[in-house]
Amino acid sequence: MSIQVLPPKIADQIAAGEVVERPSSAVKELVENAIDAGAQNIEIFIKSGGKKHIEVRDDGRGMEKEDAKKCFLRHATSKIKHIDDLFSIQSFGFRGEALAALSAVSDFELLTKTATSNAGTKINISAGKLEDISSAPANTGTHIIIRDLFFPTPARLQYLKTEETEYRTILNEIISFALSKPEIGFRLFKEGKQTLDFPKTENHISRIQKILKNEENDLLKTKHENSGLKITGFISRPEKCAKTKKHQYLFVNGRRIEDFRLNFAVREAYRQSCGIEKHLHPVFVLYLKLDPILVDVNVHPRKLEVKFSEPGEVFSNVKKAVIFGLEKGNKSIGISYKPQYTSQPRHARMSNKFSEQMFGPSFAEKNVIRNEDQLSNFSFESERSSSLRVENKLKTSNFKTSEQPPVTNRQKEQETRGNLKLIGQLARKYILAESENGLFIFDQHALHERQRFEKLYAEYETKKICIQKLLLSEKISMPEAEISILQENTEELAGLGFKIKFPDAQTLEITEIPILMAKENLQILIQDLINYFENEKIAEHSVQKLLRKILESRSCREAVMFGDQLSPEEMQKLLDDFSTTKWNLLCPHGRPNHVFWGFEELDRKFHR
Ligand code: ADP
Ligand code: MG
Repeated sequence: MSIQVLPPKIADQIAAGEVVERPSSAVKELVENAIDAGAQNIEIFIKSGGKKHIEVRDDGRGMEKEDAKKCFLRHATSKIKHIDDLFSIQSFGFRGEALAALSAVSDFELLTKTATSNAGTKINISAGKLEDISSAPANTGTHIIIRDLFFPTPARLQYLKTEETEYRTILNEIISFALSKPEIGFRLFKEGKQTLDFPKTENHISRIQKILKNEENDLLKTKHENSGLKITGFISRPEKCAKTKKHQYLFVNGRRIEDFRLNFAVREAYRQSCGIEKHLHPVFVLYLKLDPILVDVNVHPRKLEVKFSEPGEVFSNVKKAVIFGLEKGNKSIGISYKPQYTSQPRHARMSNKFSEQMFGPSFAEKNVIRNEDQLSNFSFESERSSSLRVENKLKTSNFKTSEQPPVTNRQKEQETRGNLKLIGQLARKYILAESENGLFIFDQHALHERQRFEKLYAEYETKKICIQKLLLSEKISMPEAEISILQENTEELAGLGFKIKFPDAQTLEITEIPILMAKENLQILIQDLINYFENEKIAEHSVQKLLRKILESRSCREAVMFGDQLSPEEMQKLLDDFSTTKWNLLCPHGRPNHVFWGFEELDRKFHR
């Protein structure tokens, strides 16, 4: 077969397939152009899922006749002039391909006018062929209609999904734009009926709440800046995570991206601070801003991926931003948390088992473990200071003057946490307590588990790693493959406080261990470590992650069980500690540890 150079029309149609895959990609290109043109309001009209009719109107700067004629040429763009511009790109478009592609595969109509010209320009192109150019009356801005998308390339039509599915991807596209650009108004119409209406606004959070259908207090604001990377945005309260990943939005320099690693970074932030259940997902809208030179958007136009020059940096900063937002959100509701040393643990009235769990290992164990005295002296003495109570009272009285925004159930719940009065135990599983604002029902295990966990973690933070030399080193035999996993990770192990020797290929000898793990069964612990190194280790903070895991399972074991009979004193102690528990909504794994019913809600239930 002899070589043929394809006629330009066919070449254009092939190229068009790469830029415009389906109706939503056409919409995306047109809306991006409108945003690049400085539009304040953008309207989108869709018929038959975009297969028959896509129309985008904007009030941006429009085009003069000469530009309007040129904009359909391939590689015609006003957005870059030099190759260097590619590296500092701030606009959405820059390839100059979209209008060329769209007009090659549809019946295309453009009507555009700049503020300074008297008349607009109207151009009709069908399957890449110029049909008509004329002057026409027009408003300032650009109005594009695409009819019968892909009619010259019927094969492509076959790949489209149902009209409803195509419409839904368009809808999601518009929602992404609306989240990214609150300063622009967006309206979407389906078969002539308005389906989305986002008036332009200065108030970013109100737009986000409208889109995510979140209530006012469900989202926390966050902000973090580090070496040129600026992260802002909104994240769900720990107890308001969602069952789907649907509401996870990341934007880089205004552009919606998808990056599973960064989604994971957000999840990690929840896991490491407040905890999150396996089946739940954080809701987030995060905006990353960085020097365009540090991010490559010059990937395939349809794709949502970008390449960062320092992906690890971006990962850890996203995590920090989210942790910051969670911490700040936790503090802003008036819970003070400050571990303090007290010389006199308040456990005299406790039963033995309970006090040991509350305050550290028993006397017998103290003799075995060096440095234990220091550990057992450590306790959370509540900082339920008068200032907190005063602050709370102030809040309540503010509410009463009704000058303030209405206090939500959640705020009410927070306000009186310090004064919980025991009602009793229910079915050996739940603790009932009252505050001046309502009724609390605690899952006794989940609550104690959270308190134990925070105590253990604070011990670790204060002491860092206290090492205990074993009087008799422990030798464990293991398959060679497992030994070598440990050998590869000696640095992490040392960081945790383990000293391990390897006398031969199938034996390890433990000579030092971190005190926090002195109670663990070493054989099981080592097996856990191997599993962890093999399956779960990610480069970032692996030591902390591992430690957290160990503390989580230890606090679970040491907490009172679901089913344990508790004395009134024991329960009151848990209630007293509640107000100084940092993440006092959830257990360390992210399960809720209590429910709260305000009196107003109860009154409503009883029709009072
Ligand atoms: P790119 O956006 O990559 O530059 P396009 O093919 O999408 O390429 O658009 C080509 C050019 O047409 C743009 O650079 C811009 O100058 C002009 N243009 C396209 N759409 C609009 C619009 N809605 N308003 C004003 N100018 C536009
Ligand atoms: Mg464009």
